Amino acid sequence: MVSAAPTAANPALRVRRTTGTAAVALTFDDGPDPRWTPQVLGLLRKYQIKATFCLIGGQARAHPALVKQIVREGHSLCNHTMRHDEHLKNKSAQRIAADLAQTSALIKSASGGIAPRFFRAPGGNWSTRITAVAASQHMQSLGWAVDPQDWRRPPAARIITTVERTTRAGSVVLMHDAGGNRAQTVAALRTLLPYLKAHYRLVAL
Ligand SMILES: [Zn+2]
Repeated sequence: MVSAAPTAANPALRVRRTTGTAAVALTFDDGPDPRWTPQVLGLLRKYQIKATFCLIGGQARAHPALVKQIVREGHSLCNHTMRHDEHLKNKSAQRIAADLAQTSALIKSASGGIAPRFFRAPGGNWSTRITAVAASQHMQSLGWAVDPQDWRRPPAARIITTVERTTRAGSVVLMHDAGGNRAQTVAALRTLLPYLKAHYRLVAL
């Protein structure tokens, strides 16, 4: 999985990787998922932390109640495309626009009227074309600064170590609440949420 190039190295991409303040933003990708998303939401609720969820259109259509719950509990929404096509950045602008518009429409319908204000390219595979299409649909492209690679299912201890060692003031942190067995991510959050809360202000973007 390729990380987005730093914005400073390629300003044309205009991918946001930090919060712009000292606050840290947790982001959860690929859901909603009926098994893992409620567990993540429960932990966020326990520690009174707001986060940002990057939703797959197909998942939002299949699990609208979870989208509503995400919004109801104060989290913000991000468009993560219809089917997580990691090659979408190279498709025509028309095809990208259709995918993003369909995803946003499904999220808005499921959430009860809240449209996502952020867009995250699957795999962090950005192109100037895909960020331009997102901007034309009033979505800011959202990257990340901290990546524990939890989608590879490392042990929880490694997820914890990576996040604790690499998070700084302003970091956007990437994790996953779907797309496979997320038991290690959920286990890591039990330690990470109190740690992060003790060291940073945490915000939903
Ligand atoms: Zn993803």
